[in-house]
Amino acid sequence: MNIRKKVLPKTIGDGLSMLFFLIIIPLIYWFELWIVLPDLFEAGSPLYICHFIFGNFIMINIVGNYTYAVMCDTSTRPVIMSISKAKVKDGWRFCSSCEAVSPPRSWHCQICNTCILKRDHHCVFTGCCVGYLNHRYFLMLVFYIFIGATYSFYYNNYFIWSKLVFEFPLSIIKIIFPLAIFIFGFDDSWEQFYLMLYIISVVGMLFTGALFIYHIRLVCNGTVAYEKDKNISKYNIGWKDNIKDVLGKRWYVCWLLPYIKSDLLHNGLFWSTVGSWKDNSKHR
Ligand SMILES: [Zn+2]
Ligand SMILES: [Zn+2]
Repeated sequence: MNIRKKVLPKTIGDGLSMLFFLIIIPLIYWFELWIVLPDLFEAGSPLYICHFIFGNFIMINIVGNYTYAVMCDTSTRPVIMSISKAKVKDGWRFCSSCEAVSPPRSWHCQICNTCILKRDHHCVFTGCCVGYLNHRYFLMLVFYIFIGATYSFYYNNYFIWSKLVFEFPLSIIKIIFPLAIFIFGFDDSWEQFYLMLYIISVVGMLFTGALFIYHIRLVCNGTVAYEKDKNISKYNIGWKDNIKDVLGKRWYVCWLLPYIKSDLLHNGLFWSTVGSWKDNSKHR
């Protein structure tokens, strides 16, 4: 893996989003495993240990995938140097910002200020682009946040509703504006702080759930957001190979941990299209 050299955010929006992410994830982790879990299960009991292990497994995946997504250099820079001029064919173009050739499916990002291999989008929470080489980590990051938030939601309901006494309409206002009520000191109790974390995790669950469905559909169709908008479908090589081209050849196991090595089908520069992939697969 090529390591990205400048990982600091380049815009205020990226900086604030990354800061939010890096504060809220450890806060929710602490809330779930050190507040909710001991309240619902006796410390040291088999169920407590199971939930503790599973909670940490999810957290390792969130931290690991986030780190890999941020650190992985998926720009064209490290790989473009190895290409001889003779290999530059159809579909390649010259990027005036990079002052270099750019392979098919690569697009320039104004924020990262470089061309990105099979560029999907610029993610504000990682402060970098999601492209060919870090797509797997981004997808698994979204997946594990969704799993973690859904898992938390189930148990948080038992916890929160055993702590709060419902008073109409004050409780409704507290649920809708938990952050404002806590920050402006209208209610600085621990219960209100827990309610704020509960609401944030519910929003996170809905957001990452919708995001995951959107992205997995793109992946299964062998496309990225830009190509879908332009109705480009020539890189769709069948759902199974499309998944392998994002998660790698060991797709069936690599989703368990980001540290599991799984080689991708292409090199990010040259792509199989529908016809060529069928011809090649006959000889594989
Ligand atoms: Zn460029
Ligand atoms: Zn970018």
